[in-house]
Amino acid sequence: MTDDDARALSQLLESLGQGFALSDPQGQLQLANRHHRSDDRGLSTTLVDGSVLTIGAPVDPGRRGPGDADTRFRLLAEHSIDLLIAADLDLNIQYASPAAITMLGWEPGDLLGLTVADLLVTDERAAFIARHFTRAARQGRGPDLFRAQRRDGSTLWVEARVASLPPGNGLGDYLVTLRDAEQRRRAEDALGQVNAELSALAATDALTGLPNRRQFDTTLQKEWYRALRDGAPLGLLMVDVDHFKSLNDLFGHQVGDLFLARVGAVIRDNVRRAGDMAARFGGEEFAIVLPGTAVAGAMEIAEHIRQAVASADFSSIVVGGYSVSVSIGVAASVPMAGAGVSSLVHSADAALYQAKRNGRNRVEILQ
Ligand code: GH3
Ligand code: MG
Ligand code: MG
Repeated sequence: MTDDDARALSQLLESLGQGFALSDPQGQLQLANRHHRSDDRGLSTTLVDGSVLTIGAPVDPGRRGPGDADTRFRLLAEHSIDLLIAADLDLNIQYASPAAITMLGWEPGDLLGLTVADLLVTDERAAFIARHFTRAARQGRGPDLFRAQRRDGSTLWVEARVASLPPGNGLGDYLVTLRDAEQRRRAEDALGQVNAELSALAATDALTGLPNRRQFDTTLQKEWYRALRDGAPLGLLMVDVDHFKSLNDLFGHQVGDLFLARVGAVIRDNVRRAGDMAARFGGEEFAIVLPGTAVAGAMEIAEHIRQAVASADFSSIVVGGYSVSVSIGVAASVPMAGAGVSSLVHSADAALYQAKRNGRNRVEILQ
């Protein structure tokens, strides 16, 4: 018999649900599985070479002889890389497959006094039971990810599946399968991070790092509905850099970009209240959403920004610096049902146009 044969034979013997023993003609025990007991009153037969084969009564009345479904299950379970666990109605572990060693560092026998929930980290036990064992969870018990606790205290992400077993199967009431999900979890984490970065990128203007036009439109619409619901004022500033074309003509488009980025930073530094949002509206225009801000507050913030840009130091971009100013149109109102957000945008735009007409480097609001 080769080593492989011997291993296969011993696995087969261990998988039997009853005692098995082979003795030589002198009565010396040659081979036995763990269910064999010397006082077992099973069947004995003498083989042609005089050795004696003993097959004991089934260990568990629920179990039947070799070759039945239970034996086949055990053979599969012993070779599975998933941890297969049979548990009773109270989740007490009746059987655990050898994958317990590689996955959790426990010998299968060590798990017999425990419940299935004991294999998970404390925080996850209630969720695991609610997910798989409550009446509400009976339908659609799909796989789910939980953190299992290893013998050495470390944790392992596992995908858990639970199936009810038919009565009288001799194994238990539930079959719980735990699959190592570390790789899946890592892949999902990485994907989630990439997605978050992508959506942040899609919402950000590359030159200034401010939210872009799309993000502005979304936020303004959301704040408009919120203000309508709360009966609260909503402020909007439209900011346009004065004579930017001349600046571009003087220094070139690339230096113009640096100026734009700097103006964007000055605006951001002056719009710091939680909920406020400064965005690049397009070209050399910026827009600022001010939730909960009425006319007086919006005018004040606009004037602050105007002064901050006018006194900003651009000497890091061009030697000796350069004067840049902005014109700002202000609008603020408590939204009324029926009127859309575009009325606010039009009003701020018209005020901006008025600021340009009245000489630039000014803040205006329509009267
Ligand atoms: P006004 O005071 O009336 O606003 O004058 P202006 O020159 O700023 O106005 P106009 O709309 O005539 O010109 C805006 C210029 O801004 C035109 C365009 O070349 C420049 N511009 C728009 N986007 C960018 C950009 O991303 N980078 C650079 N460098 N220039 C830009
Ligand atoms: Mg413009
Ligand atoms: Mg301009």
